[in-house]
Amino acid sequence: MLTDTPGIHHVSVIVRDAAANVAFYTETLGLRLVKRTVNFEDQFTRHLYYGDEHGSPGTVLTFFPYPEEVDGRVGRPQVAATALAVPPESLDYWHDRLSARGIDVERTERFGEATLQFADPDGTRLELVGASSPVEPWADGPVPVEHAIRGIHGVSVLSANPFQTASVLDTLGFDLERQEGDRVRYRASGDRATIVDLLDRESAFGREGAGSVHHVAVRVETVDELHEWRELFADRGYDVSRVKDRHFFHSLYVREPGGILIELATESPGVDGVEPLDELGERLYLPPWLEEDREMIEPQLPPLDR
Ligand code: ZN
Repeated sequence: MLTDTPGIHHVSVIVRDAAANVAFYTETLGLRLVKRTVNFEDQFTRHLYYGDEHGSPGTVLTFFPYPEEVDGRVGRPQVAATALAVPPESLDYWHDRLSARGIDVERTERFGEATLQFADPDGTRLELVGASSPVEPWADGPVPVEHAIRGIHGVSVLSANPFQTASVLDTLGFDLERQEGDRVRYRASGDRATIVDLLDRESAFGREGAGSVHHVAVRVETVDELHEWRELFADRGYDVSRVKDRHFFHSLYVREPGGILIELATESPGVDGVEPLDELGERLYLPPWLEEDREMIEPQLPPLDR
């Protein structure tokens, strides 16, 4: 039996500068670097994971730094922005913190939630949304715990075919909640990272590059369910991958007919399932099948220190 996804698992982004990425997400945003590994499809590319203390599903942002990458451009079909949850009373703190670092911040409000819009060093569009979240923030980061980020709030999506994307969201378990202007809100049933806003607006085609979201992943309970989802998508004629072992989870990828690449990923064994909790992200983690090549791989990866 297929069950509805409870929400987003992680969001993965293409960037250029690995060192700038680490500095921004750990020092400025105060997330924990929970995994430094490589792209399992290309072991000479880094793959960096940030999240709460454990790298729990629903809190994780991952980045593929490609030093030669061209600038991306937001447009359809793409995830246009990724929103992170902070306590509503912390918006002023964050406005000051980001501004003091020379980051342009715009305030807005949608669905009654105060929002800050800004970009990371590669132009990745981010938002901090004042919203309640059950996520325990990481207590040992550089941001005071009362203001710290509490996981993913949701994503805003520019589809090439909003009608089709809406249908896929519905199939996955995101229910239409309400509309405000050209923003149509879908919400999953879980307690975190539940929002997908479909932007019903004219937009030029985007270009994938530095600052582009590569895919958004949603949570699935079991590997058996992944195989069932795969069958359902294949029956509909969607472009769907086989079920893959991503070591921290199992997953599959589907290019929905509106053009958004969606991954379905299991919650276990988890980003924290393969290293001691107090050592997450401290050294290059390689899965067993790459470990024997460590001495060849590690020196070829771009540095993380500036
Ligand atoms: Zn992924």
